[in-house]
Amino acid sequence: MKARLDHIGIAVQELDQALAFYRDALGLEIEAPEEVTSQRVRAHFIPVGESALELLEATAPDSAIAKYVEKRGPGLHHITLRVEDIEAALATLKGKGVRLIDAAARPGAEGSLVAFIHPSAAHGVLVELKQAEERTPRFHAATRVALGGFDLITLSDGYFHLDGGAMFGTVPRTLWQKRLPPDDRNRITLGLRPLIVRGDRTMLIDAGCGDKMDAKSADIYGLDRGYHLDHALAEAGLTVDDIDIVLASHLHFDHVGGFTARREDGSIGPRFPKARYVAHRGEWHDATHPHERNRASYLQENFVPLMEAGVLDLVDDDAEVMPGVTFRRSGGHTQHHQVVMIQSKGETAVFTADMLPTSTHVPDAWIMGYDLYPMETLTFKRAFTREAIERDYLIFFEHEPSLAAGRIRESGGRRSVERVV
Ligand SMILES: [Zn+2]
Ligand SMILES: [Zn+2]
Repeated sequence: MKARLDHIGIAVQELDQALAFYRDALGLEIEAPEEVTSQRVRAHFIPVGESALELLEATAPDSAIAKYVEKRGPGLHHITLRVEDIEAALATLKGKGVRLIDAAARPGAEGSLVAFIHPSAAHGVLVELKQAEERTPRFHAATRVALGGFDLITLSDGYFHLDGGAMFGTVPRTLWQKRLPPDDRNRITLGLRPLIVRGDRTMLIDAGCGDKMDAKSADIYGLDRGYHLDHALAEAGLTVDDIDIVLASHLHFDHVGGFTARREDGSIGPRFPKARYVAHRGEWHDATHPHERNRASYLQENFVPLMEAGVLDLVDDDAEVMPGVTFRRSGGHTQHHQVVMIQSKGETAVFTADMLPTSTHVPDAWIMGYDLYPMETLTFKRAFTREAIERDYLIFFEHEPSLAAGRIRESGGRRSVERVV
């Protein structure tokens, strides 16, 4: 179980005296009080780094805090540990025979879930477990959109987390955190959204992180594959055998981790047994000759086994991968990063991959810190976004957590995305 200190609750007898110490002597800032009517208590939070102190003031004589102070005097009342999955935490504790006050989690403040552990089990300390509310809404239903003669089906390989600062480059946190709130490790939740293009043949563009990631990396990236690509394919009525072509926007692990899978004998091979795989020749060169800056993103196990199995085709800029589906070099993120243009009967959809990873990246200057050539991203993005607005392109956002596709709108100089999926 992973737990972080959320706050320390301190029972207070005289608030003024407590403030004289915490506010005036220590110089800490006190937040506006929160009234918890059901507990007859007023809570005053004092942020201290990633955790907080909580001064608890009784508002009625029959309040639990009043009784606590009467019996033991003011002082440490409880500690609160934040866990990712409170039900799993309670199940683990029950399994180890730990005495609980709350056998099941119950609603706490601000959409959180809480449960108390009995002090007798915690060496005299009342311990509260808390699961914070999921701040980023998530969307992962496999959803079909018709585009001319194609069926486009957006899929999900779950979610992962990247440093919010790195995702927004030079944009200050105060601007992006409202749209994509970071967790206590400063990471934001991102989607992993491969796309199916169905015409005469069935193509899959990108395939998420896949299931080869080791436990340490999965923790660093907060990989959540509770719902993953196999679920999404099944929801779409497809299996791995139905895929004829697998296309890579570029060869970073969060895009092609799902291209290969570990077999029972431990070796790694193609995950889609009947497919030809397609990648850009220059991107393949860069991925197989990594340097210090991109080595962590290019995991050889994701693409070298495809070449060894003889199922990988390398193509150049502007390649038509199947009729109506073409590569278009954006560069910027990597030297040969491609967006995928999907055109049929006068309609256009674009799989923008890491050029426009989320709808929050729609303003020209909101460019990822990960990009190797950010000025190239800017040049491409400026022209592309204008074109997308004028021609009403349907954009698929591969890393957007709560939306899969939409159209870029502009009014009064401000851009927004109108949701389609
Ligand atoms: Zn990338
Ligand atoms: Zn990416």
